[in-house]
Amino acid sequence: MLIDTHCHLDASEFDADRADVAQSAWDAGVRAIVVPGVMRANFTDVLALSQQHAHCAMALGIHPLFVDQSQPEDIQHLAQWLRANAEGKLPPGIQDESAVGKTPRIVAVGEIGLDFFVEGYDQAKQEFYFIEQLKLAREFDLPVLLHVRRSVDQVIKQVRRFGVKGIAHAYNGSLQQAEALIKLGFKLGFGGAMTWERALKLRSLARELPLEAIVLETDAPDIPPQWLGHHGRNSPDQLPKIAEVLAELRGVETAEIACATSKNALDILPFLSELYTPANVSH
Ligand SMILES: [Zn+2]
Repeated sequence: MLIDTHCHLDASEFDADRADVAQSAWDAGVRAIVVPGVMRANFTDVLALSQQHAHCAMALGIHPLFVDQSQPEDIQHLAQWLRANAEGKLPPGIQDESAVGKTPRIVAVGEIGLDFFVEGYDQAKQEFYFIEQLKLAREFDLPVLLHVRRSVDQVIKQVRRFGVKGIAHAYNGSLQQAEALIKLGFKLGFGGAMTWERALKLRSLARELPLEAIVLETDAPDIPPQWLGHHGRNSPDQLPKIAEVLAELRGVETAEIACATSKNALDILPFLSELYTPANVSH
């Protein structure tokens, strides 16, 4: 069994074949796909996926590159969803159209964070949304899915301040920063970027970090693995091959990687285990 801890299955790149992509991931042994929200407007799309597919899990948050399309009241809106979730319900006005027989759970606050790589973004605005959402994660006792680019130290400072933990997705910082995040209880997400032979720094991190700290992800449709090419559309059914690359890098069996990274994902996202019924764990 494998867990894709970060996949934007609601993205428009999947409009033509979303259900097939979800099924193909299942057929490839991917037993959970965590779909993060990026802004208020996509919350219902993320919810719909977890209502339609038993192996899709919902996270909700405002992404640092979507703060310009967001309003401060969207934080209140997110808080409403989290409050209802804490009571096992959907927020007011949202129909329960679940095809999977239960009200979906929000497994994390995300995707949230800071991105100082892309130019033209307002850092203070990003920090406002990040901090407000860290407060919500703490209030509702949920892990966070972090987007961290050129901002690892600033992110570490804030997560330490609010005492939250979770996953640093598509990790690409230094070994020292990785160790600081691990010490704070974070898992680090590795995916397609690690499969590129020229990604020497990232591959050495994937080789050397403790296996207990690593979770797998695709970030589909983005960050394609090397075999799909720079412009290929990534998808969650690529996860077994990504796991194979990590196994090769570490000189262990793929089964060990699958088992350890799934356990790590369930440890850091405890509500994910609610997706499982005896029937789907046995595969
Ligand atoms: Zn993402």
